[in-house]
Amino acid sequence: IKVQPYRPQEFIDFTQPENVAAYQAALTKVRAELVGKHYPVVIDGKAVKTKEKLQSINPCDTSEVVGTTGKATIQDAEAALEGAWKAFESWKKWDVDARARILLKAAAILKRRRLEACALMSIEVGKNYAEADVEVAEAIDFLEYYARSAMKYSGFGSSETTWFEGEENGLMSIPLGVGVSISPWNFPCAIYLGMLAAPIVAGNCILAKPAEDAGLIAGFVTDIMYEAGLPAGVLQFLPGVGKEIGEHLTNHARTRFITFTGSRAVGLHINEVAAKVQTGQKWIKRVVMELGGKDGLIVDETADLDNAVTAAVQGAFGFNGQKCSAMSRLIVVDDVYDAVVNAFVERAKALKVGTGEENANVTAVVNEMSFDKIEGYLKIAPKEGKVLLGGKALGQAGGKKGYYIEPTIVGDVRRDSRLAQEEIFGPVVAVIRAKDWQDALDIANSTEYGLTGGVCSGSRERLEQARAEFEVGNLYFNRKITGAIVGVQPFGGYNMSGTDSKAGGPDYLSNFMQLKTVTERW
Ligand code: GLU
Repeated sequence: IKVQPYRPQEFIDFTQPENVAAYQAALTKVRAELVGKHYPVVIDGKAVKTKEKLQSINPCDTSEVVGTTGKATIQDAEAALEGAWKAFESWKKWDVDARARILLKAAAILKRRRLEACALMSIEVGKNYAEADVEVAEAIDFLEYYARSAMKYSGFGSSETTWFEGEENGLMSIPLGVGVSISPWNFPCAIYLGMLAAPIVAGNCILAKPAEDAGLIAGFVTDIMYEAGLPAGVLQFLPGVGKEIGEHLTNHARTRFITFTGSRAVGLHINEVAAKVQTGQKWIKRVVMELGGKDGLIVDETADLDNAVTAAVQGAFGFNGQKCSAMSRLIVVDDVYDAVVNAFVERAKALKVGTGEENANVTAVVNEMSFDKIEGYLKIAPKEGKVLLGGKALGQAGGKKGYYIEPTIVGDVRRDSRLAQEEIFGPVVAVIRAKDWQDALDIANSTEYGLTGGVCSGSRERLEQARAEFEVGNLYFNRKITGAIVGVQPFGGYNMSGTDSKAGGPDYLSNFMQLKTVTERW
């Protein structure tokens, strides 16, 4: 198969009026064609009628039901598992190029429907134009990148072994079998797609359980995978409730692996359940996980302060801080604390709260549970620091009822307080004062997480120290700490942030493969 070298998608420039107009036209099209749609459970290529449905609600206007999906039962999960193992028997024998071709075809279709996917997410999860666009670009990148990665693993001897006289030795990469992919609502297009495309192109079959809050965009891109020619049974579409089917499948003796992106609490539970060997189980389940973060950006007295403030605003408030990579701690060295924090508050004041469809800077958070959880943190904020901006759960904006939270900045937060240690997953930043550079680095490393982090500094020596000592999977210097690009910044954390699986990295596919060494004497 002849392909160009991988190159990430470019982002759309929304300072150009024609691009804004095109986005708005896509919103109209999506409202006419996709809003109100039902995406059923799909098993072995057939739509399954379920007794119950899951409703997807627009978080920016909670009176609106965006659409529905089926709600898979335990019986559906059993049938999906059975069918996927049947499909695996032939899928694993497919030529790697042919498997990769399906991803490339799907990428081409998604490129054509890029703005529709964006618009659907503006309505379903409240992404503004740029946030939605960056995500769909990432989804396309995952398909393009993993298609090419798969080719690297093809054939006997794909990984290097040392020559030994009189023998032919080689390593083969083979798929694991059938796995379950449990994906999050915050990147319901890119992460959903990446988490199924990678194992699939490596020769596995997947039961995909999308997040309950974002079933429509998952249904939309699942249809694209089928349209691209994915055989029935290789991808089983199983919208449903995590506590029911997710739990059942994680426990199941015939589940070979689980790939999960979501909260630390759920991830650790999955890890524990998956570790228990069930009757009839003949493997140790593999668990690949991307969990939370309490990501810190350090600003020291040698930094370009204007640049640092831009990095802070972008990292904290992009998609309302609903990213595991979001900057939720701003750690500022005492000398420049007032200057940085004042500028940060001024800049954040200008952010407009509103709907994704009207392209507001900060939109509603995803659902009532998130809203209540964030509100709980806002209540303790005045006790743990000084509320410098925001601090209120609004519940409505621009005449719409929704899960709106004011962009909130809390100053002089103690390093060991709850605001400084717990993942809030909303537009709330804890600012922490550090005595000096070394103190700032110690503060940055003082959580159990290790996902993203950053340093804004003009000191080469300090950047080199951070390179070695800042404990995160993704470290950024003199820029925002979100927005990893596939292939450019392989993404994933360690410590309590996950298994460091590095999505969009050169070895990501090996999470879903096992190696076999074959030796022939001659
Ligand atoms: N990959 C995203 C980023 O770099 C974050 C993913 C997540 O929040 O789950 O910002």
